[in-house]
Amino acid sequence: MKVVIVGGGIGGVATYLALRKHLADASPSVELVLLEAHPTISATTAAISGGIGLPSNGLRAIAQIAPDAATYIRERGFLAESTTFRNSKGALLGRQRLGGAKHPCKRRPHWHSGGVLMVSRAVVHDALVRELRPREMTLGKRVRSVKEVGESVEITFEDGEVEHADLVIGADGPCSVVREGILGDRYAAKVVSSRSVGGFVLISSLSDGFRASLQRDPVTTTFGANGFFGYSPCSPDLTHPKSSTLMWWSSYEGGETSQSEPLLPETILPQLLERHASWRSVVDADAETATAFRELITAGCSSPDFYTLPTCVFPCLPRCNTPSGRVVLIGNAAHPDYGLGVASAAEDAITLALLLKHYRVSHRFAVREALRRTAAGFDAVRMKSRRVGRLGMYRPQVGHVHGWWQEKVRDWTIWLMTKLPESLSDPQAGYDLETAIARYITKSGCDKELISR
Ligand SMILES: Cc1cc2nc3c(=O)[nH]c(=O)nc-3n(C[C@H](O)[C@H](O)[C@H](O)COP(=O)(O)OP(=O)(O)OC[C@H]3O[C@@H](n4cnc5c(N)ncnc54)[C@H](O)[C@@H]3O)c2cc1C
Repeated sequence: MKVVIVGGGIGGVATYLALRKHLADASPSVELVLLEAHPTISATTAAISGGIGLPSNGLRAIAQIAPDAATYIRERGFLAESTTFRNSKGALLGRQRLGGAKHPCKRRPHWHSGGVLMVSRAVVHDALVRELRPREMTLGKRVRSVKEVGESVEITFEDGEVEHADLVIGADGPCSVVREGILGDRYAAKVVSSRSVGGFVLISSLSDGFRASLQRDPVTTTFGANGFFGYSPCSPDLTHPKSSTLMWWSSYEGGETSQSEPLLPETILPQLLERHASWRSVVDADAETATAFRELITAGCSSPDFYTLPTCVFPCLPRCNTPSGRVVLIGNAAHPDYGLGVASAAEDAITLALLLKHYRVSHRFAVREALRRTAAGFDAVRMKSRRVGRLGMYRPQVGHVHGWWQEKVRDWTIWLMTKLPESLSDPQAGYDLETAIARYITKSGCDKELISR
């Protein structure tokens, strides 16, 4: 059996590693191919850029795939135990505790310590790529189209080459060509005019007041009438002069043509300053003039660690595979749930690998039947259970200016959200994927040999 994974981002590499681990005993053996459009790994990592929040279920899923990768990530991130919300007038809307440490996952209690790990996305990619052996990822191969032909899938590349596989996994991100190949252009991504912008600054380059505020409220998101601005440490130590970094994020409204133009920080700086510079932060709550946002934006736009990312949206998918199970979508190709994207992609990878192992390796179903059953199981565990399907799409706010009432309603909603019990996050942070898969297998009447990890 030949499996081709399209896309060497976090989702694609996680899937490759999960399949390599769980299909190692397959006989006859499974040929795994991992393809990435960028010509080098560093170009791929650079394109990924920015910082993310990784909840404990995400870290747990990565540990299931590659324990050393999870350790590598944990050692390089900042474990946030709460996040603070403010409005642009400097008012505290609330502090939300993160994670569900009171109800730890019984199987790996030490991985469910609660909290959200704030970390650079490149660190996560790097951690997974380090687990690959030489030449396991083929670089510089851009897929143009994918279609099922009889009992196989035909992959056509930009260079005109054609390849066939038994299973193609679309891990090619929100603008997926694999998704378009199986679902048509109704589900093609629409690139909207707003871009995510952000980057990293050295904490030591910020003023004393700003640095002091990070001890109390390290992770802060501020909402104004026309957008949001967030920042968080993304290294374990807040005080190291050379390595303690702060990540920041906002968005840039560039009009219809903005996506194809290269954007320089100096282009973006004036708009960010116009939108955020007068906002009040905790640092300058009592001062005559607000300075903290200006300080961070100016430092951020003059740092080499600056990124802009296009924002793609697409409708929620009716399914994330073909009925034959020969093409499956994972990660951002299937669900643009940016806030939980890494966790979802890693959980997708494990689900696919464990189901394929069960049907193909343990039960020795023929390729056709193993793929059909795997796809049905994947759909049930990941889509029908709505672990991923309805998480919604990221919609940048900047094009829209809130009125007075809208701001009030938003502030009250955030306040209310921060008052809800912390245990509400348990279904997500403590999600036990392996049990969900085993339960599906039992229910589907194919449980003679339960999945062993
Ligand atoms: C602004 C932003 C903020 C986010 N914040 C968070 C967060 O806080 N927490 C969180 O968990 N997640 C977050 N995410 C999402 C998270 O980064 C992704 O879900 C995760 O990285 C998995 O992405 P992926 O591998 O599915 O897709 P991608 O990262 O898009 O990778 C797709 C890969 O496929 C390659 N590719 C594309 N087309 C082709 C082709 N035709 N042929 C070959 N290769 C191709 C690309 O070059 C790329 O390497 C955020 C994402 C964005 C954009």
